[in-house]
Amino acid sequence: MSALKANLLDEIATQGAMPLEAYMARALADPEHGYYMQRRPFGAPDSDGGDFITAPEVSQMFGELIGTWLADLWDRMGRPEPFCLVELGPGRGTLMADILRVGQVLPGFTQSAQVHFVETSPALRQAQKQAVALPNSGHSVHWHDNISTLPALPCLIVANEFFDALPIRQVKKTASGWQEIYVGAQGDALVFEPRDIPAPDFSAAAKACLPATIDDDSIIETCPAGETAMRQLCGHIAQHGGAALLIDYGHANPACGDSFQALEAHRFVDPLEAPGMADITAHVNFPLLAHLADLADLQVAPVATQGAFLESLGLNLRAQQLVQSSPGREAQIQSERARLAAPDEMGTLFKVLGVAHKAMPPLAGLTRKTPT
Ligand code: SAH
Repeated sequence: MSALKANLLDEIATQGAMPLEAYMARALADPEHGYYMQRRPFGAPDSDGGDFITAPEVSQMFGELIGTWLADLWDRMGRPEPFCLVELGPGRGTLMADILRVGQVLPGFTQSAQVHFVETSPALRQAQKQAVALPNSGHSVHWHDNISTLPALPCLIVANEFFDALPIRQVKKTASGWQEIYVGAQGDALVFEPRDIPAPDFSAAAKACLPATIDDDSIIETCPAGETAMRQLCGHIAQHGGAALLIDYGHANPACGDSFQALEAHRFVDPLEAPGMADITAHVNFPLLAHLADLADLQVAPVATQGAFLESLGLNLRAQQLVQSSPGREAQIQSERARLAAPDEMGTLFKVLGVAHKAMPPLAGLTRKTPT
């Protein structure tokens, strides 16, 4: 039994069941045994192990295309100097390392950048420090526990698989009323425990993004921490300028459903089996993130799929260039491209949301909403 599971069973025995949100927060971020606090989560199944593999770890092409997207936007927005190049939940720091490497093709971009990471895990902060320690790069690097302490400067913000790691609540609609999902215990096992509640206390924004009809026995997921992070992010951009590119797996239209899941060693496992040992995530509610940006008076591009976004930024061309410079790796490079963009891999499940200050130029690869 994982150490955290033993602790949680003790706590439940004395204090009773805990809301799913509290369980997910502990499983991921318990200071001693939380998943991101002690595990080395990322890696391909055939390389250094890990539990899951993210797009920047699949291929350098991902970070290179995002890096050129950012450098181009910085150029078109008038080359602010200094500006904050921000990443939320940077993991091993691979994406930012690729951004900074490719960003050097545009003179002034990395030199004007202050790199800011929003990261809670001390172990991952250490890995990020090593990843971006480029010789003679000139940029400074800072860490934050959350978005609220970013400096008062224009920000270009990127987040890949950050929002899916924030704790969710689950509420169930039944024929006789509403229930909230708690985590309780049966002997040595943690179990889901629905509890009757008077009515769900969704935020007004979350309510506005629910599907038009909700059938009985539907699960509705909300992510209070994700809403807070998005409100802070949008408030910062509205006040100081800039843009954010948010990439995650999730739904582009209002939806119900249970997406609470755990991965360990690249396999789906029971999310209550070994808290602290498996990565636990949930789908991101993109309509709600877009709505929050609208409320903050930002420009909001329609949600795109990762595949369409990367292809429109030149994924195919970049793959061809890499094949030309290393012919023996053609099969590998093409399989990386497919992994990132094919509809049956990450191409459709993963979505991209771009939001920006009203004064910003259009966001490349993301079409503007047609005026209604
Ligand atoms: N973006 C990386 C890693 C994604 S995993 C990649 O694509 O490979 C999620 C990341 O978010 C980890 O770095 C984790 O430590 C961080 N994280 C999770 N919850 C967080 C929170 N509440 N505040 C800040 N960072 C958080």
